[in-house]
Amino acid sequence: MTDAQQAPPATSAPSATRAALRALTAALGPSKVATGDAMLPWSRDDSPYPSPLPDAVVHAASEDDVQTTIRIANEYNIPVVPRAGGTGRTGAALPLHGGIILATDSLSGIEEISKEDLTAVVRPGVVLGDLHAACTEMGLFYPPDPSSLGTCMLGGNVATNAGGPRAFLYGSTRSWLLGVDVITGGGERLVLGGKTRKRSSGYELSQLFAGSEGTLGVATRITLKLLPKPPETLTVAIWCRSDPGAAAVAATILAARFSPACLEFLDERTVDVVRGELVVPEGGRALLIAEFDGEGVEVIAERLGNLLSGLPDVCVVHAAVDPSRREALWGVRRALSLATRRVTRHKISEDVVVPRGSAGALLDDVARIGELHRVRHLTYGHAGDGNLHVNFLWNDEDEKPRVDAALDALFRATLARGGSLSGEHGIGIAKVPWFAAEHSATSRALQAAHKAAWDPKGILNPGKWAGGDRNHREC
Ligand SMILES: Cc1cc2nc3c(=O)[nH]c(=O)nc-3n(C[C@H](O)[C@H](O)[C@H](O)COP(=O)(O)OP(=O)(O)OC[C@H]3O[C@@H](n4cnc5c(N)ncnc54)[C@H](O)[C@@H]3O)c2cc1C
Repeated sequence: MTDAQQAPPATSAPSATRAALRALTAALGPSKVATGDAMLPWSRDDSPYPSPLPDAVVHAASEDDVQTTIRIANEYNIPVVPRAGGTGRTGAALPLHGGIILATDSLSGIEEISKEDLTAVVRPGVVLGDLHAACTEMGLFYPPDPSSLGTCMLGGNVATNAGGPRAFLYGSTRSWLLGVDVITGGGERLVLGGKTRKRSSGYELSQLFAGSEGTLGVATRITLKLLPKPPETLTVAIWCRSDPGAAAVAATILAARFSPACLEFLDERTVDVVRGELVVPEGGRALLIAEFDGEGVEVIAERLGNLLSGLPDVCVVHAAVDPSRREALWGVRRALSLATRRVTRHKISEDVVVPRGSAGALLDDVARIGELHRVRHLTYGHAGDGNLHVNFLWNDEDEKPRVDAALDALFRATLARGGSLSGEHGIGIAKVPWFAAEHSATSRALQAAHKAAWDPKGILNPGKWAGGDRNHREC
């Protein structure tokens, strides 16, 4: 795709914007179209990136509202940025070219949870934690569990292909997506997939939509696959004597044919940040948290206990089945984000992923990169599936060029190990400069052709990774 095709829609004549807002207000009613002073929160998400204010926020309450908004935006060439919970880490929901934020949080409600079909049909504005609670009440289970589950919404989860600790065993949101109703960027209604648990019939466009970050269409209804709720869950916190020791213990657990739902890792630097706020056992330097779902988890506990007791790298092990005790074992992981903010003024948190067996090598890369560029770092994340949250920390602005160099080196090292820029947060604006290093010219052209087919005028989420090659650089 050429730059000309990728250019954001030529909004920006203020007169066109004003005319579009008048048309939107007339079509939707003034209560659904906000403008003026209240725009500031909509130019932020949970990423550190700056953004201009949008020209308006449309609070869509129905599929018709979404379609009307897209139709008018096409007519006047105004950008539209779909938005759900606004917890994204990559700036994907920011209105880089102004225009309309299409807020889907009012497009909410769990329409159906079916025990018979093992499916849930939800609107995009349903908060993930509410779906979890509704499923649990019915003895059912929806596995994806990004740590933001109290505020992120299913529309955002589908659009980012969100993961979380349990993605190790169960996979990310895409693995649970059976169908999605979409209003495309061109304004067409599309019903993709449905409630069957399998289908082999043509291109599976719902799977393409997952992870498309609001660049192809707006999800208005989502059909998800469910499981029966596991009868029991065992959580095990394994304090290890060192980072390499923790890596060795993780490898030993997996080699012994355990199948944890998640296997989380906190490196020594991360543990140091929370030390003092929480009880860290004597000699405990790095931490693994493993969780097992199923029946008879006491058998797993015993077998795992036997294995761990023979490992010199293991310092202390705590295990729990009771929900409140299990939650306490997650305390260190939960305390992390706030504790890190207390020790540094700025941080950038990446979510690179490498093949599982290369996670230890990537940790070595991070140590080397931190030393070379003299940047403070800490790493935690999903050791089970090689998806590591590498954090670079800094206090003064004059350190920033070194942080940028470290970030570049991290992405290069990740790709050199056969990895990907993102395991779960997506590309957004954060990783646009490295996109071409992961995706060949042919792949980028194919992706651009999809974008053009779904969103011919390029009104949806312009300036992001699907916005063409201008911002991409070859490594
Ligand atoms: C404390 C914290 C912990 C986190 N932990 C995790 C984690 O463990 N795993 C993980 O994967 N992520 C995590 N995240 C990142 C974030 O929560 C996820 O990316 C989440 O899926 C974003 O959902 P949202 O509803 O906030 O979407 P938003 O931020 O509103 O939007 C994200 C993207 O989705 C698009 N979008 C939103 N709604 C729609 C729609 N209806 N149709 C089409 N596109 C749409 C937007 O345009 C944007 O591109 C975390 C974030 C925070 C703040």
